[in-house]
Order: sequence, then C-alpha cells, then structure tokens
Amino acid sequence: MNNTYRAQCQCGQLALTFTQAPVAQLVCHCRDCQTISGMPYAKAAFFKAEEQCAQGEFKAIEMTGGSGKPKQYRRCSQCNDFVYATVDALTGLLGVAADRLGPPFEFQPMAHVWTSEKAPEVDIPQGVFQFPKAPPFRPGKQ
Ligand SMILES: [Zn+2]
Ligand SMILES: [Zn+2]
Repeated sequence: MNNTYRAQCQCGQLALTFTQAPVAQLVCHCRDCQTISGMPYAKAAFFKAEEQCAQGEFKAIEMTGGSGKPKQYRRCSQCNDFVYATVDALTGLLGVAADRLGPPFEFQPMAHVWTSEKAPEVDIPQGVFQFPKAPPFRPGKQ
C-alpha cells in the first residue's frame, strides 16, 4: 500500500514527502497566490509538517498573510517552480501547490477562500463553501 504523498518541482530538485494525507484542501484566490502561482488562483493542500519532509534548495519569498502574520512562499532554487508555502498563522502545516502533487493525491477542495480578491474571470462552482477572506477554521483543527 502506498501511503506516501509526494510533491516536486519540474526539475525534481525540490521535493516534499508526507506519510499522512492532507488535513485540508483549499482554492485560494488571494492576490499573493495569484502573483506567486502565475494563475488566477492557487490550489493548495495542507499537510502536517513531518521531519525531513522537505528536501532540496529553495528560494523564499516573504509576504504578510491575511492574518497579519508572516508567510513564506518557497520556490525551487533552480527551476523557480512554486512548490509550497509556510504560514506563521498555521503552525505545523505546509501549504503545498496541489498541481505539484502526484498520485495518490487527488484535489478535492473543501472551500474557496479569499474570494474577495478573486480574479473577475474566475467562476466558482455552485454549492461549494466560499469565504471572502481566510476560512473561520484552522485546517486540521476544526
Ligand atoms: Zn526545480
Ligand atoms: Zn492565497
């Protein structure tokens, strides 16, 4: 049985491995995610940080999250791919770019967040949870 979740950049230099399934999956429409991902929104899976789960060299981009606490986006130092982010408001969790995760991971978002900053061309499907800013729960501790 393969319970290992793995994310990596295009060149493979920066990789993440987790032995537990993600605790939350979100679509984030905030401007920072738009800027970093180069997409109208970012698909993120939050995993509990594990010892030595991250391997490789990264470039960190410091920003301030919606909570006012710092967050850090991490790109591969070679291919510049955005792979994951750490958010001080979410201690112990890593927000991983869902597009960089391979099977058995399947992207099944529980909510769309920061829809107040949503790109105008993006339509959110009906019937999904939406939050204009950060969700009112902490992923993994609802
Ligand atoms: Zn790379
Ligand atoms: Zn965001």
